[in-house]
Amino acid sequence: MTEDMLVIVDTFGRKLRSEERNPSSELPMHLAIYRLRPDVRAVVHAHPPFGTGFAVANVPLDKPLLSEVILTLGCIPLTAYGTPSTNEMVDSLAPYIPHHDALLLANHGAVSYGPDLELAYGRMETLEHFAKITLIARLVGKPAELSPEAIAKLLDVRERAGYMSPEARGCQACGYLNGHSSSCAAGSATRSQGRSNGGDTITLTRQELNALITEAARLVADQMKH
Ligand SMILES: [Zn+2]
Repeated sequence: MTEDMLVIVDTFGRKLRSEERNPSSELPMHLAIYRLRPDVRAVVHAHPPFGTGFAVANVPLDKPLLSEVILTLGCIPLTAYGTPSTNEMVDSLAPYIPHHDALLLANHGAVSYGPDLELAYGRMETLEHFAKITLIARLVGKPAELSPEAIAKLLDVRERAGYMSPEARGCQACGYLNGHSSSCAAGSATRSQGRSNGGDTITLTRQELNALITEAARLVADQMKH
């Protein structure tokens, strides 16, 4: 591919150059990212085999396993499946875009973005590298997660280095530090989706869950007796 093959469009997706070629069918996703993230000047969308494997298995890359990934990228959430090149996909991505720099697209692939092409591409490389290492760690044994204290220190370093705004901290850490913080747009979007489906999301300890299951089993057993 050469530079003259690039299709130049404006922020509404209207072609400004190229008679014979059309922009990517994923243009709505690219435009949404530019719209929601004024700091972003490059978007990389790809289907790298390891990252896409996690996306197909519907497993997010949000576990605190590698200090480098926490320092340079943060957690990589999985966004709900949407038909490629439609607004369905844009809708499922939108809540995550402001607070994350790379996303897994369920049953599809991955997208990363940044202030320039090199950084956006580097983030896709980090995503794929992290997916490979996570897969190997899962094959070898049980991946050991970094402690909340270790994560907090890494986030401090990241914040001091200016990789991350203080507001993004809660959300970037959401996959790492047990549940979404109240400032997490992605988290609250997920929660409100839960509500619109007819139920609030609640959190239970293992003990509370066991008690509920035991109680339910007891009720069923009682009913069967009568
Ligand atoms: Zn794609």
